[in-house]
Amino acid sequence: MGGSEFYRPATLLSNRHSAGRTFHVIVDELISVASFPVHLSVAMSASGVCATCLLVSGVATPSEVVLYFTLGTMGGVTPDVDAEGSTPLRISFEMLSLLGASLFMFSLGSNLSVLELCLVWLMVFFSLRYGLFHAFHRLTVHRGVFHTIPAAFFCGFLTATIAHRLGGMGALQAWIAGAFVTFGYLVHLILDEIYSINLYGAQMKRSFGTAFKIFAPRSPMASLLLYVALFVFWQFTPDTRTFVATFTSVQFWQHIETRLIPHNGWVRNLRLVDTQKQ
Ligand SMILES: [Zn+2]
Repeated sequence: MGGSEFYRPATLLSNRHSAGRTFHVIVDELISVASFPVHLSVAMSASGVCATCLLVSGVATPSEVVLYFTLGTMGGVTPDVDAEGSTPLRISFEMLSLLGASLFMFSLGSNLSVLELCLVWLMVFFSLRYGLFHAFHRLTVHRGVFHTIPAAFFCGFLTATIAHRLGGMGALQAWIAGAFVTFGYLVHLILDEIYSINLYGAQMKRSFGTAFKIFAPRSPMASLLLYVALFVFWQFTPDTRTFVATFTSVQFWQHIETRLIPHNGWVRNLRLVDTQKQ
């Protein structure tokens, strides 16, 4: 009895210590996680630069560039779909469901009436938004299997396959679409890791190594399944030859190099266009 009286202050002291530590960990965790607006703006900027390169090199048309830019931006917010009840989660779900439903509807083409197409769109949208993603959310842990490099490639493969097989896009365009999703996704993972480095104290935060990884230790089974899915989906992806040939060609990189900075004076070409119009 006397012993318990003796130990009480020590227990209180340790409780206060652990409360302080918990608070410190929570603050640390909040600062170490890049917020949704940060992810959105970085993904938009990175995708915008890459899409512009495709436009100036003549690989993509202006309308294709808009699609690639949108897909890259979406890839940049997708890894946080496993975050607990957050705004990015809701927005990501809605964006992905909208895109999925629209692509499916477009793939059906002109064989159905407008009313039937609208009903198909609604059915796909609601089953994605409240069915599939809800199940995903229940089954996943944050920074688990979605915050891995294979997940980035899986989303790219999935996009390329859907764009080619359902969206009717050519192999090159479908692969560029997939590459933009993977690129945006990887930018997100790298950004999360950058945020987990405490630049002032030059030390790693607790979350370091939880974003950019090849395997999710907390979800070993899901990670294994992801690799299996990656292998299976590879069989359905479009032909890679034109994609590889385009981006390994010397002409493409020379084109980018020559158009990187203005050679005839700033905005001179813009003035030329205006003169021609008059
Ligand atoms: Zn994240």
